[in-house]
Amino acid sequence: MSNFPARILVDLAAVRANVHRLRRGAPGAEVMAVVKADAYGHGLLPVARAAVQAGAGWLGVAQLNEALRLRADGHTVPILAWLYGPGAALDQALQADIDLSVGAHWALAEVLAAARQTGRTARVHLKVDTGMGRSGLPLPAWQDLLTEALRAQASGAINIVGVWSHLARADELDRSSVQDQIELFDEAVRHAEAGGADIELRHLANSAGMLLEPQTHYDLVRPGLAVYGLNPAPEVRDDPAFDLVPAMRVEADVLLVKDVPAGYGVSYAHTYTTPSQTVLGVIGMGYADGVPRHASNTGPVQVGRRRVQIAGRVCMDQTVLDLGPGADLTEGQIAVLFGSGAGGEPTAQDWADAVGTINYEIVARIGPRIPKTYLNE
Ligand SMILES: *Cc1c(COP(=O)(O)O)cnc(C)c1O
Repeated sequence: MSNFPARILVDLAAVRANVHRLRRGAPGAEVMAVVKADAYGHGLLPVARAAVQAGAGWLGVAQLNEALRLRADGHTVPILAWLYGPGAALDQALQADIDLSVGAHWALAEVLAAARQTGRTARVHLKVDTGMGRSGLPLPAWQDLLTEALRAQASGAINIVGVWSHLARADELDRSSVQDQIELFDEAVRHAEAGGADIELRHLANSAGMLLEPQTHYDLVRPGLAVYGLNPAPEVRDDPAFDLVPAMRVEADVLLVKDVPAGYGVSYAHTYTTPSQTVLGVIGMGYADGVPRHASNTGPVQVGRRRVQIAGRVCMDQTVLDLGPGADLTEGQIAVLFGSGAGGEPTAQDWADAVGTINYEIVARIGPRIPKTYLNE
C-alpha cells in the first residue's frame, strides 16, 4: 500500500467508453486522443493504451518527450507533437516516426536539418492560425511558410501530410467565430492543394468543436477533455453532458477528527473561525498536490454522506474541513474531493465553479506525487 494519505483513481473503462462515444460522434473522421500534460493529469501511458484499445487511431501531445514516451511504450499509431523550441532533438522525433507540427519559419528550417541529418522524410502538419491567435501564422503570411514547405517537399526532405488549426471559441453559446475559422481553414487548404500538396489530413476540432459543430470534423478530430469525460462546454450544456463519463476521482484520508468550540480560528491567518461548536477534519493534501489555494473556504468535499467545505486556507500539504456540528465521522474515513458525481460527490466542474477556473485546470494540476490507481485496466 502507498504511504500517501490521498489517491487518484482513474477509471480506464470510462476512458474507453468516452473514446467509443467520440468515434460514434465523428463517424467520418479518425479520432486523435489528446494525451498531453500527462493525459490531463490522468497518467499518460495507461490512458493512451486505453484510448488506443477503444479505437483512437491517433495520439496527440504537446511535448516531444511525451511522444517519445508513447513510442517507447510500444505504440505504433501515428503520433503528432506540436510544441518544441529551437534546438529540440527533432532527429529523435524523426527516428521515432513522430509527426511534427510546423507553424514558424525557424521550425521548418530545424525540421529540414533533422531530416537531412537522419536521412528520413519528416511528416509535417502545417499549422495555420485561423483565429486562435496562438500557434501558426495567419493568412496570408502562412502562404510564405507553405511555399517554403512545398520547396522542401520537392527536395524529398518533408512530406506535408496535414494542414491544421485550432478553434478559439467553440465552447460558447455564440459560435459564429467557428464558421469564420472554417472559412479561413478551407482557404488555407485550397492554397496548399493549388500549390501541389496532397493533403491527407485536415484537422481543426477540439472537444467542444467536435461535439457541437460537426462541420469541423474534416479527416481527424482532436478531443482532449472529452476523452476524460469532462464537459468542454459548460456554458452550452449542463452536466452531465454529451454522454461522457468522468474518469478521475480524487480521495484523501481523514487523518484527524476533533471537536472544537465556536469561534475557533482555523489554518493560516484564521480566515475561518467556526460559527458554532463543530467537528474539524484534516486531510493530507494541499496546494502542492494541486488543491487550488483559491479553494480556501470554498472547495466542496464529500465525507460519508455529507457535503462539507474546506475551512480556512489550503496549506501546502494539508487542508482542514468543517465536518459540521455533531458529525459522526471518524478518522480514517475517506474524503472525496471530486469524482463522477454519480455518488453525490462534487465534480471537477464543481471545483472549477468554486474557484473560478475551468475543469481542465482542476484535473491537469492534480499533483504527480499523489499515487494513481487504475480501475478496469
Ligand atoms: C489541447 C489541445 C486539443 C484538445 O483540446 P480539448 O479542448 O481538450 O479537446 C486539441 N488541439 C490542440 C492543438 C490542443 O492544444
